[in-house]
Amino acid sequence: MSDDGSAELATVNSEIMGCTKCELHKSRKNAVPGEGPTDAKVMFVGEGPGQNEDEQGRPFVGAAGKLLTELLGSIGLSRSDVFITNIVKCRPPNNRAPRKSEIETCNSYLMSQIRLIKPQIVCALGTPAIATLLGEEYSATRVHGKSLTKANVTILPMYHPAAALYDASLKEVLVSDFRTLKELLEAKATMDKPAADGEHAQGRETLEKWV
Ligand code: URA
Repeated sequence: MSDDGSAELATVNSEIMGCTKCELHKSRKNAVPGEGPTDAKVMFVGEGPGQNEDEQGRPFVGAAGKLLTELLGSIGLSRSDVFITNIVKCRPPNNRAPRKSEIETCNSYLMSQIRLIKPQIVCALGTPAIATLLGEEYSATRVHGKSLTKANVTILPMYHPAAALYDASLKEVLVSDFRTLKELLEAKATMDKPAADGEHAQGRETLEKWV
């Protein structure tokens, strides 16, 4: 394995491409493992591939993806800066919600991706992704924009961009939560900076609680 985990990540990718562990493989055109740099500081986790993603084998390439790209741009990031994936890697038929058993079966792939990429921040997009990463009691409405650190990874729950396509008022909420993402990244960059003159950099406490 190379130091940055990219060889192991490639193995995970090919396992996903050939996966037959749940029913979803039967109706998929392409599995959608996710894409982005193997050392991305930020990972986005959505619900599951839709029709466009299933056809192209790439995450967030439809209308929700266009909004995600725009939101990234609003904080000076582009898609190539971040890793984008989903809680299930194959399209549920007719865009139904993924079932609990499908999410659980697919979860080891997501956990491997997080372990190998080691993102500083994982943005959970929409309640299914939030509940998968934080627990069933969490929803976008209750906790969006509030980061929580779990096992050294900061999780930032957000509404799913698709929700803002149906309810325009949620776009402002997303814009604001992306600003929170930018601030968290800036705070982490400050904490990572080597201390000058042997001084300890300020603000090193881990974010152990809701902020
Ligand atoms: N919605 C998702 O949750 N994931 C995608 O990849 C595309 C749309």
